[in-house]
Amino acid sequence: MTLKPTKVPLTAKDFDEERWGYCFGCGCFCGYLAYFKGSEFVDLYGHPADPNGVGSFCTKGITLIQGLSKNPLRILEPLKEVKEPPRDGSKVGIFLDRVTTDLVDMLSALEYSPHVYSDALALDFKASTLKPQEWRDQKVILALECEPVFSEVMFTRWLVDAFEKGSFIVSVSSRYATTSAKASKRLLLNPRKVVEFLIQLSDVVSGKVKKGDWEEINLLAEAFKTVPQSCILVGETILRSPWRDQVFGALASIRKVVRVNYSIVGDVSPVKTKGLKEFLEEINDLDFLILTGNPARFMDDQKAEILKSKESLYLGLFPDISANLCKGVLPVKAFWEREFWGYRSLQRVPQRSPAVCKPPKSAVSLKEIIPSKAEPQEVDLWEEKPFVEDLSFPEEPLEEGKLYILAENYLTDHLGHWHPWTHGMEREQKVYVNPETARKLGLEKKLEIRGTELPLEITPNVAPDTFYIPSSFEEFQPFDPGVRVGRLLSEPWLRVCTFS
Ligand code: SF4
Repeated sequence: MTLKPTKVPLTAKDFDEERWGYCFGCGCFCGYLAYFKGSEFVDLYGHPADPNGVGSFCTKGITLIQGLSKNPLRILEPLKEVKEPPRDGSKVGIFLDRVTTDLVDMLSALEYSPHVYSDALALDFKASTLKPQEWRDQKVILALECEPVFSEVMFTRWLVDAFEKGSFIVSVSSRYATTSAKASKRLLLNPRKVVEFLIQLSDVVSGKVKKGDWEEINLLAEAFKTVPQSCILVGETILRSPWRDQVFGALASIRKVVRVNYSIVGDVSPVKTKGLKEFLEEINDLDFLILTGNPARFMDDQKAEILKSKESLYLGLFPDISANLCKGVLPVKAFWEREFWGYRSLQRVPQRSPAVCKPPKSAVSLKEIIPSKAEPQEVDLWEEKPFVEDLSFPEEPLEEGKLYILAENYLTDHLGHWHPWTHGMEREQKVYVNPETARKLGLEKKLEIRGTELPLEITPNVAPDTFYIPSSFEEFQPFDPGVRVGRLLSEPWLRVCTFS
């Protein structure tokens, strides 16, 4: 969809040009209008005609587009010696992110090399039976570890609308955030119990057992049978746990009995690449690496040393840990500085945005580095996919631990920490723990995780038996450096694991 100018400019500031674009800072793809005076950005507004943002534009989008353009820490020139990727059949590994690489880059990369990786989850089934806008019409909603405020910021409004229209919303999560705040009932459970909740719900719905351990299970099972506008929202975090198949299996078994809607919420890509796990396992065998999106933050010290020894090229926004470890570094064009084809799971078609700003002079995009024949088309990304209940998932028991780690973004994401004022919202990389758990374990000020000590914050907003670590801090960011998650997690492709 092409957005037109509004009849009356939205800004009161002096400008001489108005341009439109879509924001790809998260999965909402909000349309916006940008106002310029010469080459200077003077204002940015959500486009009122766009059905995703509906005239709003979130702080994250503003920070990215308006803030990053002026960020003095951004890489503007090539750093270190830059080599061309080899073209003689060597194994070239390409790691893709979602802010600087688009559908064309991904298709080009897949044509160029069989070794293409990303941290986004890929699904073999339709990610949703509803458009996010239809969440507001659901009368019964189970939100399972689901916080669109982190991954589809603006879509949270549809849940707020549903609540205000009187929907019965049950939020089951291991940390309190926006969905929990608006829910009719909220359960704060450790991540394994969050999965157990869904499994018990599927057992009650299918008649295997009469009732579940939580009264909300019995209420939901009854409601799902009688209210057609019912929906289960599953957040990506719980799918980055050892129990992903159990979640899908329980969702499929519920859908076989009742036609409850579902949406998988988060950084889920409908296009398949290899994942972070394969990247970390295969890195040693790759001859040349082309990286975007700072994947070194997921590396432990051993993998970081391997990366350092490789021929590599990083297309980066900031001099972060990946830039520090790669042999060549080029400034990369951000999504608003180039034609960009965004694609995310809750959108049926890729969305094209024109370039809104000029990129830094030496900045490149991935498709300029590798030969690109890919033609982006407005394809229906879900057309051929089955529903979740059409697939079968291995039935494994839910292994029990005593304590769990949950490593996820918090308020600001990766880019936020490079921006002085968003970084100021979350200055320290701490471990957050429930008061009851802290008392039980005798914890007061610090916690050691895999040889690294982090300061402790005691808060009732995190579930018992759960250590929550904001995951977007990293080494070499200039204000208050943190510890990269690759050092803290034994399997960094999982953001939920048992703590021992
Ligand atoms: S909600 Fe997402 S797409 Fe919309 S402005 Fe914010 S970051 Fe950009």
